[in-house]
Amino acid sequence: MQSMQTAKILLVDDRSENLLALESLLESPGVETVTATSGNEALTHMLGHDFALVLLDVQMPDMDGFETAEFMRSRDTTKDVPIIFVSAVNQDHNYIFKGYEQGAVDYMFKPLDEYILKSKVQIFLNLYRQKKAYEQTTLELSRAVDELQKANKTIVEQQKSVIEEERLKLLLQMAGATAHEMNQPLTALLGGIDLINLHLQDPEKLPDDLRLVKDAGKRIENIVRKIQNVRRVETVPYVSNNSIINFDQKIKILSVEDSPEFFELLNRIIKKNPGMQAYNAPDCAAARRMIEEEDYDLILLDHVLPDGNAFDVMEALRQNNSPTPVIVITGHADEVTASQAIQAGAADYLNKKEVTGESLHQSINNILEKQRLQMEIRAAMGKMAEMATTDELTKLYNRRYCTEALERDIARTSRYGGELTVCLIDLDNFKKINDSYGHAAGDVVLTEVAKLLTKNMRTADCLGRYGGEEFLAILPNTNCDSTALVCERFRKAVANHAFAFNEVHFQITVSIGIAQMEDNRLSMTDLINRADQALYKAKEAGRNRIEVYT
Ligand code: GH3
Ligand code: MG
Ligand code: MG
Ligand code: MG
Repeated sequence: MQSMQTAKILLVDDRSENLLALESLLESPGVETVTATSGNEALTHMLGHDFALVLLDVQMPDMDGFETAEFMRSRDTTKDVPIIFVSAVNQDHNYIFKGYEQGAVDYMFKPLDEYILKSKVQIFLNLYRQKKAYEQTTLELSRAVDELQKANKTIVEQQKSVIEEERLKLLLQMAGATAHEMNQPLTALLGGIDLINLHLQDPEKLPDDLRLVKDAGKRIENIVRKIQNVRRVETVPYVSNNSIINFDQKIKILSVEDSPEFFELLNRIIKKNPGMQAYNAPDCAAARRMIEEEDYDLILLDHVLPDGNAFDVMEALRQNNSPTPVIVITGHADEVTASQAIQAGAADYLNKKEVTGESLHQSINNILEKQRLQMEIRAAMGKMAEMATTDELTKLYNRRYCTEALERDIARTSRYGGELTVCLIDLDNFKKINDSYGHAAGDVVLTEVAKLLTKNMRTADCLGRYGGEEFLAILPNTNCDSTALVCERFRKAVANHAFAFNEVHFQITVSIGIAQMEDNRLSMTDLINRADQALYKAKEAGRNRIEVYT
């Protein structure tokens, strides 16, 4: 694409017949020539055009080629345009080339050799086009950087508002937890006041009552102080599915900081919060070691460290799969580092000069709250995903997941070819197990059969509970013969397995129907129907056997 860009060549010679000859020589697609018959005219042209190259006659009346070149060199816009001097006199003009960058200047002697001229011009044209392409790329890159910076700013702003939102949610939850904790000392306090009223005529009992009141007051004061503190990310379960914040856990904060004075400052601030403990790592190496040995709730990370920087420590955390949130502390008003830190996964950043009790407390608070909420959300999402795809009893995939997987496998096989078989597995006379030993015994059998199935199939196979006592196995890249071998092994494993429930032992068998994906027109329903027909045949033929659809 770049090669299509027109490159302009300025031809300067006082004799127009020379110009004509040069023009016809250099005429080619993507090249435009401009001519000038004097140094002055050449300089005028150079003001209005962007030239890839100048072919400059040395011998000209008024201003010669060297003088013209001097003028060109003295102007910022034209000083880098390469020049080929064309001279009739074969003598050493090397001195004049001094001061030009290497490669930007060349010379040729008349009469011009057509082939050499063309190849020299071609070299300069290539250079020019590369330079243009490079300039274009740089322009695009700087636009992209602008866009990224804008996007980053938006992200940082959004992040702040998310933190604020999560903070509000947590405060609401805390209010409930605190009300619960407060209940007991409040009752004691009110009881104490009642007693004081009762004992007003009985002064020797009053000191005891006052102690009671004072005690309750102290406990309330403690709770209030804890409310102002940061809680650890974990919560403890409390009546049914509620959870309350566990006030008594220690919060461990690692400060990776090489300046002992600054660590002391941080430590003083942190120590004001009961329950928080600060630890110091003076460099990256110490930080790496300490992170591996101990779990911290939060890391305060100085940007510049003696043996690296904050990003090195964050990389170590990433490699350790550590979920510990990080606050990067930047040296000065360093917005670039700050945004890089956030992009690299830091939860927040603080300007070293602005670290005060208030700002640090606020930041730590927000981050620990956010961390706790994220953990809860992640756990809930994991559970939901599991519930959506897994059968509760057997822990195999559920029917919906199986059929979706089968749809995908069929689509892939239809497009790219390859083999695919499905097996429908049905427990024989399973109703009798339920009837004889109870439904719970039936459940144990289903679970055990699922385990045997998992043990006998490959990890690439998709195994699911298709119905009550029916399983579906999908075997990609496998033909009927291999599938039959695997199924036979599984069938025997079930038949030989001693099932037990409440000291009662019994046997059970399975029947299996196998069908293979044959041509592209077979739908999922067709394929499963075929397996079902084979299964029916196996049942008809006396159970405890496998049948392949033919
Ligand atoms: P066949 O050899 O013809 O398959 O006989 P069968 O008794 O296995 O088949 P049928 O379809 O008559 O009975 C299946 C039984 O499986 C009936 C149902 O109560 C039982 N069942 C289905 N789901 C569960 C379950 O989750 N737990 C237990 N314990 N039993 C189940
Ligand atoms: Mg430092
Ligand atoms: Mg059955
Ligand atoms: Mg059945």
